[in-house]
Amino acid sequence: MPSMVKELIDPVAKRWLKEDIACLFDHAEAKILASLPLSRKGTRELSNTEAHTALWKSIWHLNVSPKLQSFVWRVCEGAMFDRQNLQQKHINIDDTCGVCGSEGESVMHLFFKCEFARAFWFASSLQLDTRKLRSATFDGCWTELMHLYGQDEHADLVLQWIAYGL
Ligand SMILES: [Zn+2]
Repeated sequence: MPSMVKELIDPVAKRWLKEDIACLFDHAEAKILASLPLSRKGTRELSNTEAHTALWKSIWHLNVSPKLQSFVWRVCEGAMFDRQNLQQKHINIDDTCGVCGSEGESVMHLFFKCEFARAFWFASSLQLDTRKLRSATFDGCWTELMHLYGQDEHADLVLQWIAYGL
């Protein structure tokens, strides 16, 4: 039985091994997992670190809809097309945040740094000051949030709330 994500990926063809996934997950989970894009850098980045496996598990064990799990995973993998990402792909677009208009629209800006995102998190029941998140990446911030709230007595509810807040 595979114990690491890399064991679910064909290293040559760089594609998910759908038959193996189907043996490990229920139909809905397998369908979503097989639809997730693999890292542009290949399977090496996805597979080998414990941190990445922990990140993957933290998302997959959330008691939220598969669609939301897939969304969080895609954002962590850098597969979300924010304006800065589109500009880096040579698409002629103004990369300024469409909400506040003050900074470039990156994933980090959209979810944690934009003044509107910060106000949302701070006004939430978590009263989270996102300026205290130390990581410069979305997946790093997600991991911090998992550590901050994952041991909470109501961790399932808190983590669901965070995922829906995104
Ligand atoms: Zn903004």
